[in-house]
Amino acid sequence: MTASRMKANVGMADRERLLAAAAPTTPVTVVEVSALRGLTIRQPWADAVAYLGKDVENRTRRTTYTGPVLIHAGLQVDKAALSHAPAALADAAGELPGVLGAVIAVSRITGAHACDGSCSPWAEPGRWHWQLAGTRVLSSPVTVKGALGLWIPTPALRALVTRCRGFLPASPNSQGASGP
Ligand SMILES: [Zn+2]
Repeated sequence: MTASRMKANVGMADRERLLAAAAPTTPVTVVEVSALRGLTIRQPWADAVAYLGKDVENRTRRTTYTGPVLIHAGLQVDKAALSHAPAALADAAGELPGVLGAVIAVSRITGAHACDGSCSPWAEPGRWHWQLAGTRVLSSPVTVKGALGLWIPTPALRALVTRCRGFLPASPNSQGASGP
């Protein structure tokens, strides 16, 4: 995949820089996963996961699912986000792609817990903290409708996503993952 094939509605230079910043430091293995879920997140939080290392998704409900997850930017924007977001989000707010209604990254839910919010700068007290790891930005967003909770991607969406540089994080634990 060359840079010229990348689709982006934002300035190419900005996107290139963000992608470079989000580039992995460890090699990636493309794997076929039987377990895969989608997680719809409002902007700018979805971009925070994709580009800024947001490693906790704050939810009112617990999840028992662990395994790969598509980070889907919803159609809604949390306009009050910057009032309580870490400085990293405010600093980058003007540069983030802000794509709506598309899968923008692939990550992995490694667990969920409740704590006082000390586990991550992105954690909010009083919420369940869904831990995210190994997040990879897709080479181009895949437009699709989202849903509430953890949703199951269609085979067509799986095919599209895995074609985006195959950014599915490898895991020996992807088998036997349980549902939400
Ligand atoms: Zn926590």
